[in-house]
Amino acid sequence: MSEQNIIALEPVIKENIWGGNRLVTEFHYLEEGSGLGECWGISAHPHGDCRIAEGTYQGKTLSWLYQEHRELFGDIKSPEFPLLVKIIDAKDKLSIQVHPDDAYAKEHENGSLGKTECWYVMDCPEHAELIIGHNAKTRQELAEMVHAGRYEELIRRIPVKKGDFVQIVPGTIHAITPGMLILETQQSSDVTYRVYDYGRLLNGKPREIHVEQSIAVTNVPDEADKKGFIHTQGLCPNKLHELISCEYYRVFKLNIEGSFTMDQSYPFLLVSVLDGEGKLGERVIRKGEHFILPAGFGKVAFTGKMEFILSTVGCEK
Ligand code: ZN
Repeated sequence: MSEQNIIALEPVIKENIWGGNRLVTEFHYLEEGSGLGECWGISAHPHGDCRIAEGTYQGKTLSWLYQEHRELFGDIKSPEFPLLVKIIDAKDKLSIQVHPDDAYAKEHENGSLGKTECWYVMDCPEHAELIIGHNAKTRQELAEMVHAGRYEELIRRIPVKKGDFVQIVPGTIHAITPGMLILETQQSSDVTYRVYDYGRLLNGKPREIHVEQSIAVTNVPDEADKKGFIHTQGLCPNKLHELISCEYYRVFKLNIEGSFTMDQSYPFLLVSVLDGEGKLGERVIRKGEHFILPAGFGKVAFTGKMEFILSTVGCEK
């Protein structure tokens, strides 16, 4: 028996013009609705602060729990809860973006954090492509291509399959494409520069493009499509596989077939059930649930057939 209980969360569902309906039809987060692009499954961000779903802290927000009970999070020093885990359902195209790093965001965005993120592809159409990186060789060439609107030439498209994983460091131009379902683990930040929006109009007007910021923060030349790309399809079940370890987070893939027991030895462990159904100890857990295994949880006993992405803080925290 564990000393601690799991901390189950109520996700925050976001409407987006590019969103689909899978968060309703497949994940049942809401009874109905469409144009629902994002499920913030584990978040203490002011734009979507998850509530605790059950137990001692039921109804409290994750940001409250983090401030009041830091011991559940291994007494880490970060002043705000550092991570944000989302499921993204893109029915339409998302604008092409780039994020600043901590130093640029601090100076230009009122002390905000930059944003490093990573994507696990939960589902995608056949022959799907991700937009990762660009083809300009110098910053001057980048600026020329942006100012001339030569975006189709600029952006780099790479083929992607269900089960692929990619790390997106600050300065990487990126976008997911229609039909993709993504589990994103990221620094808890919302600072985004829009590079290109395919010339679309919203209420008759194009959305703002952050031309100067994009040119300033984009990595040149960019090799993002060659680094940080992992194919997880062949990973064996009943083993915790680390996909990435960086300054901000460590992310793991775990597939359960039958039973598997592990030690929760991290400051805390964020868990998202991507598929299947089973048990964690005596509690039934199923596809679409997001929860936290707090510090001191001890032995984690899984049974069933399930697929997870898990994460915790990075090595330097
Ligand atoms: Zn992003």
